[in-house]
Amino acid sequence: MKKKLLAWFLVGLSAVQLTGCKTAGRSAGVRAQDDYYEYINEELLDEIELEATDAHWDWFGELSALTSEEMDGIIKELSKDGAAYERGSSEQKIKDLYECVSDTQNREQTGLGPLKPHMDSIRNAQNIEEYVDALARLSGEFGFSSLVGGYSIMQDKADSGRYTVYMTYADTLIGKEYVTGKDTQEYVAMYFDYVKAMLGEFGMTEEEAQNSADSIEILLRDICDSTLNTEQLYDPSVVYNVYTAEELQQLYSNVDVEQMLKTLRIDGQDQYVVMDVEQAKKINALLVEENLQALKDYSTFVMLNDTAKYGNEAFFRLYEKMENALYGITESWGDEKNWMQLTQELLPWDFGVMYVEEHFSQEDKEDVEKMIARILEGYEEIIRRQDWMSEATREKAICKLETMQVKIGYPDQWPEEKDMMQVTPVSEGGSLMSNLLTSMNVSIEHSLHQLGGKVDRSNWDITPQTINAYYDPQNNEIVFPAAILQAPFYDRGNSEAANLGGIGYVIAHEISHAFDSSGALYDEYGNYNVWWTEEEMEEYQTLSQSIAEYYHNYEIMGVEVNGELTLGENIADLGALTCIVSIVGDDKEALKDAFSQMAYNWASEDTSEYMLYLLSTDTHSPNKVRVNAVLSSCDEFYDVYKVKETDGMYVAPEERVGIWK
Ligand SMILES: [Zn+2]
Repeated sequence: MKKKLLAWFLVGLSAVQLTGCKTAGRSAGVRAQDDYYEYINEELLDEIELEATDAHWDWFGELSALTSEEMDGIIKELSKDGAAYERGSSEQKIKDLYECVSDTQNREQTGLGPLKPHMDSIRNAQNIEEYVDALARLSGEFGFSSLVGGYSIMQDKADSGRYTVYMTYADTLIGKEYVTGKDTQEYVAMYFDYVKAMLGEFGMTEEEAQNSADSIEILLRDICDSTLNTEQLYDPSVVYNVYTAEELQQLYSNVDVEQMLKTLRIDGQDQYVVMDVEQAKKINALLVEENLQALKDYSTFVMLNDTAKYGNEAFFRLYEKMENALYGITESWGDEKNWMQLTQELLPWDFGVMYVEEHFSQEDKEDVEKMIARILEGYEEIIRRQDWMSEATREKAICKLETMQVKIGYPDQWPEEKDMMQVTPVSEGGSLMSNLLTSMNVSIEHSLHQLGGKVDRSNWDITPQTINAYYDPQNNEIVFPAAILQAPFYDRGNSEAANLGGIGYVIAHEISHAFDSSGALYDEYGNYNVWWTEEEMEEYQTLSQSIAEYYHNYEIMGVEVNGELTLGENIADLGALTCIVSIVGDDKEALKDAFSQMAYNWASEDTSEYMLYLLSTDTHSPNKVRVNAVLSSCDEFYDVYKVKETDGMYVAPEERVGIWK
């Protein structure tokens, strides 16, 4: 994906580490005091030319591409000779799946394959009852969901030791943010050209496809008007709505709920959590005979869209064209790369095992564990000095830190889904579509098996080869996969301060999520349980409000940053920097190392289309804003760089923000 940069990456990295923290040689460019992000990254970003196949570049993506190329190497190695591997081994699964993915003739012949009868039952539904039944079968067997009957089995927010059923959101296609956005309507129009083309490929005439696309758009706009915003989805007080089966029947008065739950195989539960009540009411109102055709078309399109990547070439090309236009990508990856990507996506844990065998250092793990312990201590000090919190609340916050689980590298036990997922080769009648359905069915069977049992807190939600990290409020845990423990985030050859600005900042950010606007609502056991007094909660909201307003002052491409959408992430960034700075201490050179490494790690390049997508939907602020806004609120940054009132980075002391200061 990024061959050119690969060589540069190795050279450039050491060069930046030598000179990145020094001001010498940068006088020609932007001043640190005016735009720190540009100051640190202008040389790097000058070198990076976004390739035609990419919408976005950053270090996360760069390292993911490198990892993915390595996995591609494994696929090629396994596929090159006719060797047979033991049935059920990762080697067999990878080799045989890749054969299914790359056998275009087989994909043409298969078409929708085993999904065809399900699609027919949507198309042939004579009334709402038959339509809902068809959707429930698709959801219950494979996990497909379009308008009603979608569910997910996850930890109970109020009792994180058990699992419960969440009735999930309807599929809003291009998403509420685009549908209702003022800067995004041309993309909505483009998306509906895609809807029409897909329905045409499915066999509708030009006129039928146009009429169907029009009626889908009317439904979609109506549904989006009654759908939660992305920021609301993070608020447990909004999405955790407990219903009994009887109450669910009242909510979905146009559906035989008992029958639907039976088909979904989730009947007999003491509760069902409805995540978006207003949307559910809207969907129920739409489930009437006069809308039957439009509903059938909507669900037909969702199925075609969900399976387009796995179907025959015509569907895949339409899907690819739409995605590329949406993100501003002008050139496709090409078939081989696409095939290898699909193979990796469908066998994530098999590749995970192989990744860990090659890339995991116990010494790195121990080194990072020490850093995490220091950061947790740093946080404890931050919490102790919050005089707006009562002693009792501070103790609860510290208890949450002390009981926080830390996971690094890879899971002690590989997930059951890894062995449950088996690949049937082409020679035995397998196809990409049939293997996709097997993998979807494995997920469903696995979660149904979990329902009623105790939560296993040793589970991992991401694979070890993922370049990312997360905090999970329901397990009160931070998780760092093996793959993020590499340069530029972490390098044992770096100064301690640089590593604190690198992986340390990422760790501190994740820990901050335990106390962000949504994480703060969960206790140390991972239960949604507000442990603050009412006055403290009010103070928290006042501070949050000022953070949201502060970020509204930043804009990218003339579009204001959405301070509400990005609130939780901004709270985490601000808290992380405070924590890292307090650990580094007052050595100005060390602080420069930490600041510059942090700014360097968030360097990114985007197409304007992709930036618009991020501004509309991403809960993080754009990277440039993440860097500059946080530093402009950090007093030590002013000392180190002697920032003056007339400088671009300057924000008056009383306007600097943060909760965990
Ligand atoms: Zn985050």
